[in-house]
Amino acid sequence: MKPDLFEAPDYYNIDDLLTEEHKLIRDAARAWVKRDVSPIIEEAAQKAQFPKSIIPGLAEIGAFGPYIPEEYGGAGLDQISYGLIMQEIERGDSGVRSTASVQSSLVMYPIWKYGNEEQRKKYLPKLATGEWMGSFGLTEPDHGSNPAGMVTSYKDKGDHYLLNGAKLWISNSPFCDVAVVWAKNEEGRIHGLVVERGMEGFSTPETHNKWSLRASATGELIFQDVKVPKENLLPNKSGLGAPLGCLDSARYGIAWGAIGAAMDCYDTALRYSKERIQFGKPIGGFQLQQKKLAEMITEITKAQLLALRLGQLKNEDKATSAQISMAKRNNVDMALKIAREARQMLGGMGITGEYPIMRHMMNLESVITYEGTHDIHLLITGLDVTGLNAFK
Ligand SMILES: Cc1cc2nc3c(=O)[nH]c(=O)nc-3n(C[C@H](O)[C@H](O)[C@H](O)COP(=O)(O)OP(=O)(O)OC[C@H]3O[C@@H](n4cnc5c(N)ncnc54)[C@H](O)[C@@H]3O)c2cc1C
Repeated sequence: MKPDLFEAPDYYNIDDLLTEEHKLIRDAARAWVKRDVSPIIEEAAQKAQFPKSIIPGLAEIGAFGPYIPEEYGGAGLDQISYGLIMQEIERGDSGVRSTASVQSSLVMYPIWKYGNEEQRKKYLPKLATGEWMGSFGLTEPDHGSNPAGMVTSYKDKGDHYLLNGAKLWISNSPFCDVAVVWAKNEEGRIHGLVVERGMEGFSTPETHNKWSLRASATGELIFQDVKVPKENLLPNKSGLGAPLGCLDSARYGIAWGAIGAAMDCYDTALRYSKERIQFGKPIGGFQLQQKKLAEMITEITKAQLLALRLGQLKNEDKATSAQISMAKRNNVDMALKIAREARQMLGGMGITGEYPIMRHMMNLESVITYEGTHDIHLLITGLDVTGLNAFK
């Protein structure tokens, strides 16, 4: 892969709207991605291996629990810092950002928000350093967009719960130490349980042959009569709103992350367009190529403003789930379209691993599907503005 010459676009001087702390955190993450992710990510993706060597670095830049209070090992940062960290990581690779998103928003967040003090103290510090890695089990083979239909369930056996069922498409599953698993009790109410590797009857087979998010490990979570200690139930929230609360936090991070992938594609295509000569001049001098670049930077700028305003609302605890859906949907779609256009601008070189664009493009096909598909987020906006439910 070519050396990483990334220069971040900032067409509307959005940096002026950030604090010095935001910029320091963002720049540290950016430098880390350049130094530790870019040189290895193409090979990791080609080999379909999550590069575990980067786990300590992710912890160091605050990617594991950026907004979790410091007393639990988190970085105690605001929501805009969290977003900026996700943006920089996804500039490197959506798969690496997925690992960080799951750890922070889908594992640490529910333990912090819905767990008790003993659970917070037991799990959060180890998750913050990456000593333990986590996964989040909501999706099932027959229940993806409709998680309320889940069949994974547990029974109260007096001194423990007995858990049965299976989860599919679970990021980090093959190497996770703990899994936050959503299951129904005997009354059909959804609760979160922390399942630990080593519990009898718990297995995590890997899903192979993905063309997307190849540098992120995906797999199943299988529970066959797993005895889960009662103290592993998250006591402070139940019902579908509990996992959906985690998804709000992760989707917010994705809205920022997608900007990073788009920036990398734009920056790569812009540089290439000035260097590649056809018909005696740089291809960037042709109107058709300029149209692509002009539209890319316009869309990136709009997405940056959307994410920043959403971050302000999140900081004030005012962001609604529907607002988060809009940003996730818009920004991922924007990034995927930019990746496709940028790939064309590189001609044949665009399909090789010499440049990051094709990898981003393939990754974004997962990002537009997970954490609520593109269509499901549209239905959320539709429901929000009309008050009419078009889901069923
Ligand atoms: C790489 C990867 C990693 C993932 N990581 C995780 C993870 O860590 N944890 C986890 O729990 N899940 C994870 N997922 C699962 C992901 O969230 C689901 O794939 C997603 O929610 C969609 O579910 P599905 O694949 O079953 O598709 P389906 O729900 O079967 O949807 C198929 C199609 O039907 C459409 N559709 C569904 N319902 C409606 C409707 N009412 N109206 C109109 N259209 C509809 C959808 O938009 C989609 O286009 C991951 C997925 C991938 C690909």
